Amino acid sequence: MTLREHARFSTICIHAGQTPDPSTGAIITPIYQTSTYVQEALGVHKGYEYARTRNPTRTALEGNLAAIENGKAAFGFASGMAATAAVMTLLQSGDHVVVTDNTYGGTYRLFERVLRKYQLDFTYVDTSRLGEIERAITPSTKLLFLETPTNPLLRLTDLAGACTIAHGHGIAVAVDNTFASPYVQRPIDFGADLVIHSTTKFLNGHSDSVGGAVVAVREDHIEWLRFVQNAEGAIIGPMDAWLVLRGTKTLPVRMERHNANAMALAEYLASHPKVASVHYPGLPSHPQHELARRQMHGFGGLLAFQMGSFERARTVLNSVRLMSLAESLGGVETLISHPATMTHASVPPERRLRIGITDDMVRISVGIEDLDDLKEDLAQALERV
Ligand SMILES: *Cc1c(COP(=O)(O)O)cnc(C)c1O
Repeated sequence: MTLREHARFSTICIHAGQTPDPSTGAIITPIYQTSTYVQEALGVHKGYEYARTRNPTRTALEGNLAAIENGKAAFGFASGMAATAAVMTLLQSGDHVVVTDNTYGGTYRLFERVLRKYQLDFTYVDTSRLGEIERAITPSTKLLFLETPTNPLLRLTDLAGACTIAHGHGIAVAVDNTFASPYVQRPIDFGADLVIHSTTKFLNGHSDSVGGAVVAVREDHIEWLRFVQNAEGAIIGPMDAWLVLRGTKTLPVRMERHNANAMALAEYLASHPKVASVHYPGLPSHPQHELARRQMHGFGGLLAFQMGSFERARTVLNSVRLMSLAESLGGVETLISHPATMTHASVPPERRLRIGITDDMVRISVGIEDLDDLKEDLAQALERV
């Protein structure tokens, strides 16, 4: 099987990076569960010497993800956080980073609690306002770190506009694309230099693996990331690489259903008299609905809503039966969570409130179950409020 140069997205998801196994013809790339490779003679080998440096299952995943995100190379890591940490090694002490202000909590913790020790400096701004990016840039700024849509408020950043500003100052742009997934948006097409994924979420899609990836386009970035992946060694293992490869094959069909179910639930909640407000980019009431229509293909599987008080939110969270009360997102099963005490518990309360994560907010990672069952579950939970 060879992939035509201009194959379309679903075809790329299934085929890119993979060829039948050369030794058996197995159509699926095997899980190469090995630590080393036997060399035929001194200095004679098949390109594989030690499995931290290269593993065929990981190589297949990396080829697949590079193509899916329209990048030139991808690197698999042990988790999304390991992927972000690897990107940050492109910087050196004294460098400054402008960051989306309600970026993923673990990213904020990495930047503030770990990387500040190495004299990296961070400014968090509302990147949905392009003027705030421009104002935060200093002569030391080397990276713009974006997340769009944000978790759990679903605020968007105009990727093309942000990349134009950053590149005008010679600043690289990294986008954490975990929340949207590459089916919904491909940041490199808007000018981003680096795309980060927690493959734990939509790419794997089945809540049974933890992993991460970085996709790059610039040769200097690719060369450094290849080096640092081996030097630091936070690699994705062959079993997890294989699971993510299985996941990406069905990414388009899963995302279509995630998008459709989330849109329908957002509309249902928006019309419900007990719900105070709903945050979903697909709703015309979303302040950036027009941008969402330009930048996203479908509006993603995440939504958030406010119940008016913590008690009312707690009643909903404790009353659902089909939806599972859990952190994480992007799996086939619907998860419901309370950002203030769960995913964003490590964010200081004042900062949480400033970015709009109130105690009455509920987040849903909408799965691909039958829509009517999801609606009925929410309806009976809301009835108890
Ligand atoms: C989960 C997540 C991460 C971290 O990924 P892990 O695989 O848990 O390390 C980073 N960014 C976003 C947006 C996430 O949702």
